[in-house]
Amino acid sequence: MKPSAFEYVRATSVADAIDALARHEFEAKILAGGQSLVPLMNFRLAAPTVLVDTNGVDGLSYIKRTNGTLAFGAMTRQGAIEDSPIVAESCPLLLEATKLVGHRTVRNRGTIGGSIAHADPSAEYPAVLLALDGDVVVEGASGQRVIPASELFLTVCTTSIAPNELLTEVRLPVLPAGTGSAFLELNRRHGDWAIVGAVAVVTVDARGICEEARIALAGVDATPVRCHAAESVLQGEHLTEQVLAEAARQCAGAVHPGDDLHATGDYKRAMVRVFVERALRLARDRCGRIENV
Ligand code: FAD
Repeated sequence: MKPSAFEYVRATSVADAIDALARHEFEAKILAGGQSLVPLMNFRLAAPTVLVDTNGVDGLSYIKRTNGTLAFGAMTRQGAIEDSPIVAESCPLLLEATKLVGHRTVRNRGTIGGSIAHADPSAEYPAVLLALDGDVVVEGASGQRVIPASELFLTVCTTSIAPNELLTEVRLPVLPAGTGSAFLELNRRHGDWAIVGAVAVVTVDARGICEEARIALAGVDATPVRCHAAESVLQGEHLTEQVLAEAARQCAGAVHPGDDLHATGDYKRAMVRVFVERALRLARDRCGRIENV
């Protein structure tokens, strides 16, 4: 299949890209890695009349750690994140999630900004952003604003980024010592989209008591889902097998995934319970502070 005709604009700066978006607004789309947009255009599921290519924009590809925050330029390739020693040290959860995004050839082109702006509910990066309470920075003709993850994802492939705004930066907090994390997912083959994805992050004190817990799911609703009720089951507790199982049970009870080609909703809900419990166990065992719980 071939895309319908479109005008091509190669932006050379953020201002250039914003200017092109402002001129064409609802007709224009940013072209980042093209790993989601180009297939959609080829299938004619998307038909933007203008493509604003940000691959030639300087200064949108970086990974920086400052004051407890990891900042990523929107055009940072998923492959660069996978290879980054800063990410491996400061956010092993993101590294684990990255390795689950398609295959290396996809990650060589795909960008962190593109994955988050695309907002596929089965995608790994949106679930990580939500679990960690990250933010995105967007810029448009009227200036810059910061959108917290909790206000970003509206429904399937739809965010609160306006059509005339460019996502420029993704920010994730660096988590404190005593934190363990895991991203596990059910899929038919490695590299496929998640049928169910589970993110678990726990921080424990020196006695092994859970100070903070974060759980997010991919693939079970129109957006990634945060499981606050299940998190409160863990907070203030020793992370015993029974406590982990109860939190996983709460997660499964809180979601209502629909049937699709890959699985029934009931099966997905059952897998939420299994994968959250496994992810929590792995996260707990990676805290490095727990003995013999
Ligand atoms: P593009 O495809 O260029 O853009 C995607 C959308 O985001 C477009 O609407 C575009 O206009 C918008 N956009 C991009 N950048 C910006 C920006 N800076 N500001 C505003 N809007 C922007 N993804 C997964 O998460 N998990 C998988 O398992 C997975 N498997 C894949 C397997 C294959 C075979 C392929 C081809 C892709 C797969 N992907 C998967 C998708 C991949 O992660 C994409 O890279 C990602 O979804 C989009 O990033 P991109 O940079 O390619 O964005």
